[in-house]
Amino acid sequence: MIARVTLELALRREFDYLIPPELSGQIDVGSRVQVPLGARKVLGCVTALAEESAHARLKPILKVIGAQTLVTPKVLRLARWIGEYYCCAPEVALKSVLPDAVRQEQAGWREQLYVRALPFSGELPKLAKRQKEIWHIIEERREMPLQELIELAETTAATIRRLEDKGLVAISQQISERDPYAREHILPTQPLPLNPAQAKGLAEIVAAMDGKTNPKAEIRGPKQGRDSKAGDGARQDSPAPAERASVFLLHGVTGSGKTEVYLQAIAHALEQGKGAIVLVPEISLTPQTVERFKARFSSGKLQTLVAVLHSHLSTGERHDEWHKIRQGRARIVIGARSAIFAPVDPLGLIIVDEEHEHTYKQEESPRYHARDVAIMRGQMEGATVVLGSATPSMESFYNCTRGKFKLLQMLERVDDQKMPVVRIVDLRQSLRHGKTVPIFSPQLKEAITQRLERREQTILFLNRRGYSTSLQCPLCGYVAGCPNCSISLTYHRQEQKLRCHICGHTEPVPGVCPNEKCRNPQIRYSGLGTQKVEETLNKLFPEARTVRMDSDALKRKEDYRRILGDFRAGKIDILLGTQMIAKGLHFPNVTLVGIIYADLALHQPDFRASERTFQLLTQVAGRAGRGDIEGEVFVQAFTPFHPAIQFARRHDFTGFYDQELEFREHLKYPPFSRVALLTLKGRNEEKVAFCAEHLKRDLEASLKDSKDLILAGPAPAPLLRAETFYRYQIMLRVQRMSGVSKKLAQLMESLALPEDVSLAVDVDPVDLG
Ligand SMILES: [Zn+2]
Ligand SMILES: [Zn+2]
Repeated sequence: MIARVTLELALRREFDYLIPPELSGQIDVGSRVQVPLGARKVLGCVTALAEESAHARLKPILKVIGAQTLVTPKVLRLARWIGEYYCCAPEVALKSVLPDAVRQEQAGWREQLYVRALPFSGELPKLAKRQKEIWHIIEERREMPLQELIELAETTAATIRRLEDKGLVAISQQISERDPYAREHILPTQPLPLNPAQAKGLAEIVAAMDGKTNPKAEIRGPKQGRDSKAGDGARQDSPAPAERASVFLLHGVTGSGKTEVYLQAIAHALEQGKGAIVLVPEISLTPQTVERFKARFSSGKLQTLVAVLHSHLSTGERHDEWHKIRQGRARIVIGARSAIFAPVDPLGLIIVDEEHEHTYKQEESPRYHARDVAIMRGQMEGATVVLGSATPSMESFYNCTRGKFKLLQMLERVDDQKMPVVRIVDLRQSLRHGKTVPIFSPQLKEAITQRLERREQTILFLNRRGYSTSLQCPLCGYVAGCPNCSISLTYHRQEQKLRCHICGHTEPVPGVCPNEKCRNPQIRYSGLGTQKVEETLNKLFPEARTVRMDSDALKRKEDYRRILGDFRAGKIDILLGTQMIAKGLHFPNVTLVGIIYADLALHQPDFRASERTFQLLTQVAGRAGRGDIEGEVFVQAFTPFHPAIQFARRHDFTGFYDQELEFREHLKYPPFSRVALLTLKGRNEEKVAFCAEHLKRDLEASLKDSKDLILAGPAPAPLLRAETFYRYQIMLRVQRMSGVSKKLAQLMESLALPEDVSLAVDVDPVDLG
């Protein structure tokens, strides 16, 4: 027998090896093996078994790693699709489906010495007083780690060994699982009664899981899925056909009770004997979130293990959690992006919460989008997929209107809580009265003062990017935009130029505001720094307890937990941070949310800038008034009448969607096209620019038959010299990506780039920066 092996080296091809007789029966698709390559020994994964090979004189596999195949055939098929669709080498795609902790197998299981009481009848042998005490402890507990017993009985291993000599106990090595949540005390919960909208949503999901609404999903069960043609997904352009497995978009406002619907749908999957994967953005993976799932399923009748996969776990914890899933002991997985590859089998349900979040996109190769991978996996394995969001992405909502996804709506908050009142503050007004760009308008200042007096809490949001890349007139709100692409032009201060990083359009920076009615000579004023916010805040409210939560605090998980704990306990009056801090958190005492500069999000040079701003405003507004007191939101902006801000103020998603869709259609942006962003990077700018021109000509030639192809650029990327590299981009828009992906892969292989210039391809990019 022959095994086809993908090596863990960037070779973009597979190799055939002989399975030696002593290893036959141990090797299957998905086995990890060590094989010879030249003089070296390298690791790889078996991707297929064959009777014969086109190559003569094959070398034998040296050894098999691990007792169980790590990559299941189903996950392997998913990896193949990722390689093809996202244009990356198969070994890179394959690498991403296993956590490092599992792949490298360094951590392994933790073994510990355990003491076990042996069955015993009749008279107790003669024991010293100390030994007798120890015996009573172990007799009562039956079994416990040796170290724990030593500490509990304040004794030594030698003393316990004497009990072993007398035949009373056995001491042996056993696997001791690392449980990252062992110290949390979790109280079991029961399903909650549902309101009519929740009940309707759940009923539809359950019907789809039972195959009632689409019988084809039943016929194509997981078993048959295995032998259907591999890579069959790759021919689908959008990973979203609804005829085989159902995809739901659960559009529910913040506080509408989406999680309860998820929980009861998962319970149904378990009743069917299937498992579930729940994806949440990394930042929402708080102990609070995990607890809700554990509390429902890890206790009571079901006793189902819930495994958690995310980057804050130790290597050992990740290893153990993953193997609990692989062994079928954990049926429910909660995790960030990469948990979509968890080896749950059979899989009944995939939930992608906050499906619009761009953190689902991996920013390095393979640049996959976990939501789209989830849809593809659901289709391959006949699992129902539920995408949830208060602010669905344009793409997902569009797929509902086209009948690819089924829309479920929950537009009321549970317990009749009111949506918060959103007040827009026109910062231009404040500027006309004062001399400098204000940070806190009088209205927001007054609102904060009131909260401090009433001992209620405030959250203030700054944008993730604390600087402005666009040119905006602080007096009238005018923003310089590209005449071709309708995105904000990037302001290059040093060269005093405005530049579009999509099409390359450049123009000089105007001396006065181009708005006829304004003509402000100070348009180049750059007063939108956010560093000063904390300083000003402390000056205005010296008595308030203010904490700034920055990205450093987010990386240190103890700090993150401590700050949120203090905030919950009421030890902090004002929490200042980026929009990421309050995802999925409920603070009943927060009655005021302030957004300092909404424009910073609005005028990013990206066609999704409006969508992001709408999402940001809606999401942060959802943080206000989760308790008994009605919430209030202040949005400060220089462009207060922008549709993204106005629709967010009215909590009007469909209104926003309709008008944004028109803009996207007009300029052929997604969902009316698929985008690939090609970025060339190098230290020598001329060389990079030259290669970019060359690449564009190659693209034009090889893609000339693609339907509705639009190529824009090359243009310098917004952060031109990030990390001392020059980057040039070409943006490609096309109707269907699948055929194009294949051609791009071929082009990348045949392209002869100079050694110091590299090319990255990002299919369906979420960040154009
Ligand atoms: Zn102006
Ligand atoms: Zn442009």
